[in-house]
Amino acid sequence: MVSKRLASRVRVPDELRSWVYNRLVNAHIRSVRPMVMGILLNLVISVVVVWGHVSPLLLMWIIVATGLGLIQRIRLAGGLGKKRRRNPSRLKMPFEVNSIWLGFSTAVLVAVSLPLVSSTAQLILVLSAATQLGANAYTTRTLPRAAVAHIGLIAFGLAIGMFQLDGLMPLAGIVLVIAACALQSDMIKVAHKAYVDRILREREVYTTSLTVKMLLNDYEAQGSDWIFELDSGGRMVGVSERFAASAGFKPEEMNGRAFSELFVESSSRKELLVALEGEQFRRGLTLKLAGSPIMESRWWSISLRPLPPSLASVARFRGVISDISGEKQAEARVYRMANYDSLTELPNRLMFNASLGRLFSGKVQYSRIAMLIIDCDHFKQVNDMYGHPVGDKFLKLVAERLDQTINESGLGSEGHILARLGGDEFAVLMSGEDVVDQSVRLSDCLVSAFAEPFFVAGHEINSGISIGVALAPDHAISAESLMSQADIALYVAKDEGRGRWEMFQSGMDEELLRRHSLARDLRSAVTNGELRLFLQPLVNVETRQQTGFEALMRWQHPERGMVMPNDFIPIAEETGLIVPMGDWMIREAMAEAASWSEPHSIAINLSPIQMASPSLLPTVINALASSGIDPGRVELEITESVLMHDSEHNIDLLNQLHSLGVKIALDDFGTGYASLNYLLTFPFDKIKIDRSFVNDLESREESRAIVAAVISLANRLGMCTLAEGVEHETQLAKLREQGCEMVQGWLFGKAEPAGHYADLSRPDEAKAA
Ligand code: C2E
Ligand code: CA
Ligand code: CA
Repeated sequence: MVSKRLASRVRVPDELRSWVYNRLVNAHIRSVRPMVMGILLNLVISVVVVWGHVSPLLLMWIIVATGLGLIQRIRLAGGLGKKRRRNPSRLKMPFEVNSIWLGFSTAVLVAVSLPLVSSTAQLILVLSAATQLGANAYTTRTLPRAAVAHIGLIAFGLAIGMFQLDGLMPLAGIVLVIAACALQSDMIKVAHKAYVDRILREREVYTTSLTVKMLLNDYEAQGSDWIFELDSGGRMVGVSERFAASAGFKPEEMNGRAFSELFVESSSRKELLVALEGEQFRRGLTLKLAGSPIMESRWWSISLRPLPPSLASVARFRGVISDISGEKQAEARVYRMANYDSLTELPNRLMFNASLGRLFSGKVQYSRIAMLIIDCDHFKQVNDMYGHPVGDKFLKLVAERLDQTINESGLGSEGHILARLGGDEFAVLMSGEDVVDQSVRLSDCLVSAFAEPFFVAGHEINSGISIGVALAPDHAISAESLMSQADIALYVAKDEGRGRWEMFQSGMDEELLRRHSLARDLRSAVTNGELRLFLQPLVNVETRQQTGFEALMRWQHPERGMVMPNDFIPIAEETGLIVPMGDWMIREAMAEAASWSEPHSIAINLSPIQMASPSLLPTVINALASSGIDPGRVELEITESVLMHDSEHNIDLLNQLHSLGVKIALDDFGTGYASLNYLLTFPFDKIKIDRSFVNDLESREESRAIVAAVISLANRLGMCTLAEGVEHETQLAKLREQGCEMVQGWLFGKAEPAGHYADLSRPDEAKAA
């Protein structure tokens, strides 16, 4: 009845009652050993004290009754060890009965003995019984009914015993004993209530955490996110299969491992360590997983919070992980798309400009900056001849070769950047103390690296590069001007014949302006009739007779006067204007030659750009037809570069031209990537040995050897040889010695306007003139 009242006070739900009793009985079982010891000690002391004063029979009964009671108690508790009883709530009643029994035997002992013993023995008896009362109130407090019955009986026994004594003192003792018993009963109730309260609260927390755990597991199993728990040292605990799999491990490999070890070093990882150290809350830490055995480049967003003390067990933190690798990859893709060139995978102009801007922002202190702007010399032709897919592949190889050369040369300064600015234009940006020297040496390396041909889709492509170099603060103090100075240097490098590099110099800008205005004016040169045909005689070495003329172009500029081909042909080629200009020359030169009295040959220069133009063949056919000239008198001069690029197409075209009856000459032989093999690629009618060899003929043995080899091979192949730029008799003598058939040069006549060589005109026209 007492327990029911207590239980109702602490409101034990019916379904929890047996669980609560289990806890209560178990709690008592833990104190059975001290209780038994205490009662046994009490019994021994009491028996010694009352020995001889009490009837032996009664004493025997008390000893046996108490002994049996204690044995029963030990049995109920399952022994004095830590053995747990199954279903302990069933023992509640037996414990209560046993307590009554033990209380009763003690009560009988004191009630009977007290009046029979000496006053000292009385004191010991009372003290011993009172101690037992207090001690058992404590050891049996979780079973209040048993405790109250037990101490009540002892108090009752004490009261009866004392009642039989004389005087007022024992009466005071009775009052004291009853008061102590009431007080103890009350304390037992309070302690019991506190205990039941506590275990109920614990249970609630436990079930709540179980529910939370269940919900979390549910969430984890269904969602794309994972729950994790860490102990106070930031080590992972209770790792689920799924969580472990997400990191590429087995749960047993992760349990007990420091959570932070999963991630690569970063500011977020530091932040995580701070949060773990300070038991703080963090949300949305973005962490990159250190490469795990099965996956790489994984990103997690992590939120974690320390668990409240009521929930904290081994786990001190709980958190959620979302895999944001997808978003990160998309982010990276967007970044790459914005900052990198998709074809070559090099940084693009945007990123290059940003790096350049940073260098000039003053935020980083650099002594010097060098910029190299790099341009492929023949990209347009590659594209025109082979189409864009080959052009694209070629650009990729160009990018690779640039990158490789920079890396292998070891000249790229720390943090240099190689970018594709667009089209066939690339740039290198370097900074540091030594960039003056480094940029010069790197330019040299790059130019020579591009002397090697490229092989793209079965085509051998030879394309050099031209480089413009500018330095800051030497040539420019802003990003924009550094860029434009490097650009100017690049134009000059191209102008100077390509396949080379130029460092910016003051004055170059005026040169560039001149070129720009030339390019603008050149557009109207054909339609305005500003082009002029000049002729230079071609002479037979043996007879010293003119046998033909080379047609050379001049531009009669309205303001600048006569402009030489070296100044405008490169511009015309770059702008594509060479096609209409070349067409004009073909028509003009054939018409001119057709008017001559002598059947001299006429040599016409063809640019590689013209070779790529579909208008070339029709133009030649039309010019032959409209001039009526014997095709055998017409010689078309092509350069080695035509054989280097798309030789198949070009050789096809040359064959078609050949089949019209015109002759084909190989011009400037020895200047490009000269190879005697070129002589075998097409049955040329004539080989024109470049002026540079003739120049060196007297001074360099090597030149003599090359000229001799070319002449002998050409002769054997039935090709005519012509040496260009013969200015002196001594040169002529040497060439004759070596078997050169024809020459051209100032020794016999410069390029002059048509009409200068008067003897060419038909006799009647000459007379008329
Ligand atoms: P090229 O075809 O090698 O022409 C020979 C150049 O050498 C001419 O210069 C000629 O004046 C020059 N030359 C001839 N003999 C001597 C000599 O003894 N000493 C020196 N120092 N020079 C001599 P030019 O007329 O200035 O032409 C330069 C280049 O321009 C030509 O070189 C040719 O590649 C190109 N070119 C000229 N006219 C045309 C044209 O109509 N079409 C095309 N596509 N290119 C042309
Ligand atoms: Ca020529
Ligand atoms: Ca030539």
